[in-house]
Amino acid sequence: VFLAAVLTLGAGAGYLVAWRLTSGIERVSDAARRIADGDLSQRVGAKHESDEIDRLVDAFNAMSENNEALVTELRTVTDDIAHDLRTPLTRIRGMAEVTAAGETSPDGFREMCGAVAEECDSMMQLINEMLEITRTESAIDRLERSEFSLSGLVRQAGALFCEIAEDRNVALAVSVPEQEIAIRADKLKIQRMTANLLDNALKFTPPGGRVELTLALRNGAPVLEVRDTGCGISPAEKEKIFKRFYRCDASRTLPGNGLGLAMVQAIAHAHRARIEVESEPGKGSCFSVIFPQNT
Ligand code: ADP
Repeated sequence: VFLAAVLTLGAGAGYLVAWRLTSGIERVSDAARRIADGDLSQRVGAKHESDEIDRLVDAFNAMSENNEALVTELRTVTDDIAHDLRTPLTRIRGMAEVTAAGETSPDGFREMCGAVAEECDSMMQLINEMLEITRTESAIDRLERSEFSLSGLVRQAGALFCEIAEDRNVALAVSVPEQEIAIRADKLKIQRMTANLLDNALKFTPPGGRVELTLALRNGAPVLEVRDTGCGISPAEKEKIFKRFYRCDASRTLPGNGLGLAMVQAIAHAHRARIEVESEPGKGSCFSVIFPQNT
């Protein structure tokens, strides 16, 4: 009788465990089916049935969360690219139509071809920049790390931009610590990042203003800082400026495509560096790139 009781109990418990496992698995596969049908927001609710099922549910939900974020991001990027390419394409079409319809002289044709080539160049640049950002973010473009002097790079960047600063009547001050700072990083990408930050600082600072490019060691970590006395960024917009194509309302009339800071962020993150932004509208901004201590 004892044996029979144990066997019955055992079978009962086994059945219960199996039932709970299958009910959990059932819920996960239901959600998977609904996601496959196109509803990416589907998640599996927590029921705390067993450790295994809880782990499966957590992993499934985390995966679904990532997939949904990725698809949403891809949709936004394609919408943005479509929008940014439509405008120059409309201009090209307009030019071609006007030129073809009128009595255009050979010089007029030549002029139109020049303008079309220019529009094509800027579209090409936009596409290449988009691709480069995506490749840097997804680590497809492996970093070409080499050891170089970050102090030297900062001094060079200052020298390179001093003419632009002069043209814009903005004072550019470069400051590097006495002790040389060397890092192991992708030099071309760090140059690109520094140039983008400097370019913005100079672009968004009115004549008579000042831009400071500073390299320092903070708690043993190299910090690259670009400070300006420009138009500043509102707290609400500060969240968005690193998104591709985002441009603050106040700066839409200035040249740019809204990809510069997306590139800066992709490069910084690829190097495990952190970016901090301090800004006060009307007063100025400061962008800091904080490298890890052992870069
Ligand atoms: P772009 O410079 O081509 O517009 P970015 O991605 O470099 O694009 O910058 C996004 C937006 O962030 C800019 O359009 C501008 O509104 C804002 N921004 C970036 N840097 C600064 C700065 N130093 N001062 C004020 N606004 C800035």
